[in-house]
This record gives sequence, C-alpha cells and structure tokens, in this order.
Amino acid sequence: MVHPHPFPHRHLLGIEQLSPQEIGTILDRADECVSISRAARKKRDVLKGLTQINMFFESSTRTLASFELAGKRLGADVMNMAVKASSVNKGETLIDTAMTLNAMHPDILVVRHGESGAVNLLAQKVNCAVVNAGDGRREHPTQALLDALTIRRRKGRLHRLNIAICGDVLHSRVARSNIHLLNKMENRVRIIAPPTLCPDGIERLGCEVFDSMEAGLEGCDVVMMLRLQQERMTGGFIPSHREYFHRYGLDEDKLSVAKPDVIVMHPGPMNRGVEIDSELADDIDRSVIQEQVEMGVAVRMAVLSLLAEGLTGERAVA
Ligand code: ASP
Repeated sequence: MVHPHPFPHRHLLGIEQLSPQEIGTILDRADECVSISRAARKKRDVLKGLTQINMFFESSTRTLASFELAGKRLGADVMNMAVKASSVNKGETLIDTAMTLNAMHPDILVVRHGESGAVNLLAQKVNCAVVNAGDGRREHPTQALLDALTIRRRKGRLHRLNIAICGDVLHSRVARSNIHLLNKMENRVRIIAPPTLCPDGIERLGCEVFDSMEAGLEGCDVVMMLRLQQERMTGGFIPSHREYFHRYGLDEDKLSVAKPDVIVMHPGPMNRGVEIDSELADDIDRSVIQEQVEMGVAVRMAVLSLLAEGLTGERAVA
C-alpha cells in the first residue's frame, strides 16, 4: 500500500492551513534535525542539486541566518537576496523580482515581505515551493513552529498548557501564527495587551483577552513576550517606554503569579528594559530565548526537507 505523504503541501504559507497532524510531522522531523545540528559534522546531502533563494524585503537577523544555515546543512545551493522595499513600488517590485527569479529555476523561495498577503500572491505566480518567512502582520509560520518545538521539548507536551502572549499583538504576525498553532493543539491561549495594541475581535481566534499582566499571568505555564513593533506604528500607541515597562514589561515580580516552572519566550529582537527585564531575559532557569534560536534552525531544516520531498518524491532526512 502506498502511504500518502505526511506533508501534502506545495508551500508553507501559514499555520492556518495546517492540521494538528501536519504540525506534529514537522516537529518530529525537526527533532531529528536538532541532532544533525548538534553533531560536529552537520552536512547532509538531502537537498543536493536543489536551489534555495532567500528573498527578504524586510530586515531580519535570526530568520535569514537560520534559513541560510538550514539550507546549507542539508546540501542545497543557497542564495540570499536582500531587497529594499522602500525604493520602488512594492507590488511591482515583488512580482517583477519573483518572475525574474522564477526564470532562474529555483526549487524553493523563502520570502519575507512587509505587506500582509504578499507571499501568498507570489506563490501563485512562481513554479517553485514558497516558504513564508513573515508577511506584514499576518503570519510567520516558522516562528510559531519553532516556539512549539521549544515548548514541546521543555514541557514534554504541546497540549493543555496555559500560554500567555503579551505586548504588541496588534502589529504581530508572530502572535497570529502562535494563536492558530496553540489553539489547534488544544492549549488555553491568553492575550495580554494594552487596549491600543490589542486588535479588535482577537478573541474570535479563540483566546481570552486581558489588559493587566497580574490577571493574565496567573497560573501560566508559558509566557511569550512580543517586541514593540515601532517601525509599524504611526502615532502614539504607548505613553512612554518607562510607563510601558511599568505596566506590561515582564519582570520577576509580575511573573511570580505564574506556575513555578513557567518558561519565558521572546521571538527577538528584544527591547531590553521595554518589554522584558534584561536579567530575566538572561535567566537560564526561566528564559528559553537562546533555545528558540537553536530550534529555529531545526524547524527550518524540517520544513525545507519536507517540501523537498514533495518536489523530488524521496524522503529527505536519513
Ligand atoms: N522577528 C519577528 C518577526 O519578524 C518578531 C519581531 O520582529 O518582533 O516578526
């Protein structure tokens, strides 16, 4: 009997389209990839002969570096293109650039863009597999997957946990992808945000909304902090950084109402002293921020290898 491929998608555009089983498939594959990354010799040739182009219209440190490393560790030919969105009309740049690249026959395009929906649009125009590395405020699927892997490895499970997502939810694609994923895996998701940074109707995605850290953090297993996305803000969303830290910044004191074994996460880049106390961010008993970075490479290796199997029909990690 021929088994259907466990990841029957041509692209990875968001968490919304994935089933809980498919999320489990990616995380299981990522666990295998952690071992590859921890070995002294990391090179595999499962993507050998495949070309991966990373096209980033917005700046990135962790995501770009980890997609590059992930592709290289699996043997792909990787090319990075840093495209500045500001100089030309965004819609035209995106499609024109994509068509130019498409003519060079890449197998996988990894794309970050400032407009929500831009990566989906691009996926309709090209012949290769497309991975969304963050589009506007909409989705950042590999971030939610790496967060899920970190939680699953730390807590031993990825269901029935109380998880708080705190801060600038309004501008955050990380929050949206995480809400989808954590709900699909049957967790209890709480949003803690000042009213100015909380999107209208967010509770319809299946979360409880709080505007006080004290109430929202009570009994939490996991706390995810978000960066204040000042580049997406026009006008006064917060009174001042000091006031913001006082009310919504995570410190030991506010965290004391959470479970004793609570873990603290942040997708980076962090504004120390604004959304998170600097010492807490470095506290290895609670903060898993460095582990998130490690899991980021593994999750991206897993996604690339699963998509490559769809392209070549061969299992891609031995
Ligand atoms: N690095 C994440 C993103 O690209 C989070 C952030 O920038 O705050 O969305």
